[in-house]
Amino acid sequence: MTTIIDGKAIAQALRARVGEAVAEIGRAHGIQPGLAVVLVGEDPASAVYVRNKGKATVEAGLQSFEHKLDASIAQADLLALIDRLNRDDAVDGILVQLPLPAHIDAERVLQAIDPAKDVDGFHPVNVGRLWTGAPALAPCTPTGCMRMIRGVLPKISGREAVIVGRSNIVGKPMAAMLLAESATVTIAHSRTQDLQQRCLNADILVAAVGRPEMIRGDWVKPGAIVIDVGINRVPRGDGKSRLVGDVAYDEAAPRARAITPVPGGVGPMTIACLIENALVAACRRRGIQPPTL
Ligand code: NDP
Repeated sequence: MTTIIDGKAIAQALRARVGEAVAEIGRAHGIQPGLAVVLVGEDPASAVYVRNKGKATVEAGLQSFEHKLDASIAQADLLALIDRLNRDDAVDGILVQLPLPAHIDAERVLQAIDPAKDVDGFHPVNVGRLWTGAPALAPCTPTGCMRMIRGVLPKISGREAVIVGRSNIVGKPMAAMLLAESATVTIAHSRTQDLQQRCLNADILVAAVGRPEMIRGDWVKPGAIVIDVGINRVPRGDGKSRLVGDVAYDEAAPRARAITPVPGGVGPMTIACLIENALVAACRRRGIQPPTL
């Protein structure tokens, strides 16, 4: 029987535990962690993400600071805001919603964030810490994937893991995290040869490509754990659209030992891990041991 990994339920439980931990450090240390989210421009998808992040932040008992800026903001003004947030002691985490308008150098902005407040884990200091095994603020989506993998596979050590996709926000940090747990890791990408064959070797198969249902059922090793990060909107035929992952779910699910659905799999975990990162940042900045959730 295939286990359908219920990301919504796992995320909800994690958010509740973050909420309890926030209340606990409030009682013990008299602090309320704060998360600042910066949105530049009017991109509707980004606006929805920011609204959901703000809602989850407040629900978990953290302070939420939202900065909505005009798409025409000068890069220097955005950097000045980041500088203010870096100095603001009430702000423990800073997230700049991507993508940024074309006239702004996103790399420069992300690097301006204090690594101690970098809850997205995109700053080179945190990337380096993640790869060297030092305590890092790690990217939220792969952190969520690891939680889901551990939930169905307590011993990752020695397993073959194949990650399809090598982005800085998903594929590469996912590889670092699986390697840290002693999986044997392959990172595949658009130039990879024999992709199906490589996927067929995977005990743990992570798809982070952005191509609807590219990974077919006969690419999945029987008994594999399949984590589908992809979120793709495709036409439904009645003028409306629906969300599908990078994995052809109906074909893959019968072969997999466990699989994440889309929607309701990896997606909800990202926000839960974000507020966990904000809590961790708040603790570390004050020399408090972060709770294990
Ligand atoms: P990117 O576009 O940054 O990276 C896609 C990767 O897939 C690249 O490494 C690319 O290879 C690789 N790729 C593209 N085509 C192929 C192919 N035919 N065969 C093999 N590899 C291929 O995407 P992201 O990592 O940002 O996102 C991936 C997906 O995950 C998207 O659907 C995105 O919406 C979703 N996502 C979901 C999140 C969530 O919260 N659930 C969070 C973040 C992303 P190359 O490097 O060679 O070009």
